[in-house]
Amino acid sequence: MVAPTSRIIITGATIATVDAIGTEHLDGHLVIDDATIVAVGGGPAPRWALAGQRPDGSVGPVPQLEVIDGSGCLLTPGLINTHHHLYQWLTRGWAQDNILFDWLVALYPAWSMIDAELVEAGAEAAIGVLARSGCSTVGDHHYVFPKDSGDILGGIVNAASRVGVRLHGTRGSMDLGRSQGGLPPDFAVETTSAALQASAVAVEKYHDPSRDSMVQIAIAPCSPFSVTADLLSEAAVLGRSLGVRLHTHGSETVEEDAFCLEKFGKTPTQYLEDLGWLGDDVWMAHCVHLDDHAIDRFAKTGTGVAHCPSSNARLAAGIAPIPQLLAAGVPVGLGVDGAASNESGQLGSEIRQSVLMNRLRAGADGMTGRQGLYIATMGGARVLGRENEIGSLEVGKLGDVALWRVDGIEHAGIADPVAALTLGSVPPLERLLVHGKTVVSDGRLTRVDERAVADVAATAARTLAVRAGH
Ligand SMILES: [Zn+2]
Repeated sequence: MVAPTSRIIITGATIATVDAIGTEHLDGHLVIDDATIVAVGGGPAPRWALAGQRPDGSVGPVPQLEVIDGSGCLLTPGLINTHHHLYQWLTRGWAQDNILFDWLVALYPAWSMIDAELVEAGAEAAIGVLARSGCSTVGDHHYVFPKDSGDILGGIVNAASRVGVRLHGTRGSMDLGRSQGGLPPDFAVETTSAALQASAVAVEKYHDPSRDSMVQIAIAPCSPFSVTADLLSEAAVLGRSLGVRLHTHGSETVEEDAFCLEKFGKTPTQYLEDLGWLGDDVWMAHCVHLDDHAIDRFAKTGTGVAHCPSSNARLAAGIAPIPQLLAAGVPVGLGVDGAASNESGQLGSEIRQSVLMNRLRAGADGMTGRQGLYIATMGGARVLGRENEIGSLEVGKLGDVALWRVDGIEHAGIADPVAALTLGSVPPLERLLVHGKTVVSDGRLTRVDERAVADVAATAARTLAVRAGH
């Protein structure tokens, strides 16, 4: 056993572990050695931990020991975002009152003018905002690759690395332009072969399959109305041959249902299943309009869902049937979706949004706050295939944790600290650790200069607006 070089001990916090039986401690401790959780439980931290020794009591010593007083705080797993389009940070506030298809048509021309430098600038701000709202793992779906736009995925990887979060990026694609019956303009799409080739290159270049990986890449053709059947089926074969996950949008709107019925004579789920797109290595964003048969197929195949409640509300897409999906055993994670359809970009507040929206559909006991916390953590880990590494506070898991202050004016005296996060305003973030390292402290990003990140993102947004003639 190699002695750890650093140890972080959190004491005195209320802990929601989100383990399989929902263990919570009113006053507990957690110990992280290097990047791994080595102790979690009720009461004060064990003596060996505070003494810098190993769990068997032998002398460490641990060179770097930090003890964080977690009293007045709620400790949860770091939140996991399962769907985003980081580049959309550059087009927040555009097309404010449209449904999905009209909104996309309004935005495609500007998006087709992005490049790696602009995306990196927007992504860094978007990731920074996610981290400040408790998110330790950032899922992204990038599918716009204009000609000669440089290494866009590389820019996203750089941005995540600078802020300090775990990244689940994707190499997305579109190859069904308007002249072929698709929704995007022809100038915004690639050829099928170029998309497949670039997807393989992206996996080879950036995907790290190891247990404690900080960057993983999935293959992600965009949607049934912007991608050909050939690309969908060949991308699924490619992803499986490379051993990476598959991601796409599905069943987001009634217009998408109508499109699939008219073009293919099927629901989106039937269409995608016929092309190899249901399976325990697939996760799909939105899934608002699933009938009972589709929910059954998701459950039987282990297909995951990225639930994006604020975006679904912003575009008036509808309310995804999360309680039914959870009851059926479908892996469900939470996502912010792109910031062009969710100007907040914060993941912490999506927990409350999800619970409240689902209650409008399923009743006051239709979805609990703790179910909201579950999908934001362990559910997301299942969706991304990382359930053995992240998503809960258990010995052996990676040190991705969020420490929320619940004794301030917002939440002091609340009967249940977990309800502060799941039903109340997002509590101030005392600390976010990713891989055992501090990424946010006292609400501020620690590894980058927030002012500089904001300024660079604002300049990039203006540059894109000028390019797009706005
Ligand atoms: Zn999306």
